Amino acid sequence: MTSDHEALRLFVYRSLATTGRAPSPEELTARFGPGARAALRALHDARHLVLDADDNVLMAHPFATIPLGFAVMGARTLWWGGCAWDSFALPHLLPGEPGVLVSTRCPACGAPHAWNVTRDAPPPGDQVAHLLVPVARMWDDVVHTCGNQRLFCGEACVTAWLDRTGGDRGHVMDLPTLWRLARHWYDGRLDPGYIRREPAAAAAYFREVGLSGPFWGLSGR
Ligand SMILES: [Zn+2]
Ligand SMILES: [Zn+2]
Repeated sequence: MTSDHEALRLFVYRSLATTGRAPSPEELTARFGPGARAALRALHDARHLVLDADDNVLMAHPFATIPLGFAVMGARTLWWGGCAWDSFALPHLLPGEPGVLVSTRCPACGAPHAWNVTRDAPPPGDQVAHLLVPVARMWDDVVHTCGNQRLFCGEACVTAWLDRTGGDRGHVMDLPTLWRLARHWYDGRLDPGYIRREPAAAAAYFREVGLSGPFWGLSGR
């Protein structure tokens, strides 16, 4: 990645961090010059951003500009939370937001849920996260993937939702596991020179937070 690409990446990420919105391709061209769209596409190809067909930023994980089931409220900023994993990551990534309010509805029964998510400890609650798409296929259609990483009332609601939608069960985890997964996954994304994890480093991270099994590309159940 060139330094121009990195400058544009940082600008997009910091805009999302501070305002909850992403700059438009026109705004980026005004600021970075005529190469901005090519830089956006290079960042998309390298999975630093997800663009739509008109080069608008849809996602810059853990930030999103489209509703995927979650809203996150900070002290002065509102974000679309992306998925469950992304929403729980925000307080760990944002220096000025040690605690945020994460809200959603159970996809099965529509019950509203909200948690104060901080850096200190997992929030209390019996709800569970269900991630539908295994790690090896997460980037096949990443908007679909994030849109199906949701929080449910409990196991019964996950089962009811899978019966209704005809999906195969993915991975279910409790709130402490989700919180640990989100805690350091996005470390460094707001800093210059961020490098995405190689698959081996990702696998080591998943194992360290207590995950196992083929869903995560790991041995065990
Ligand atoms: Zn429910
Ligand atoms: Zn996500």
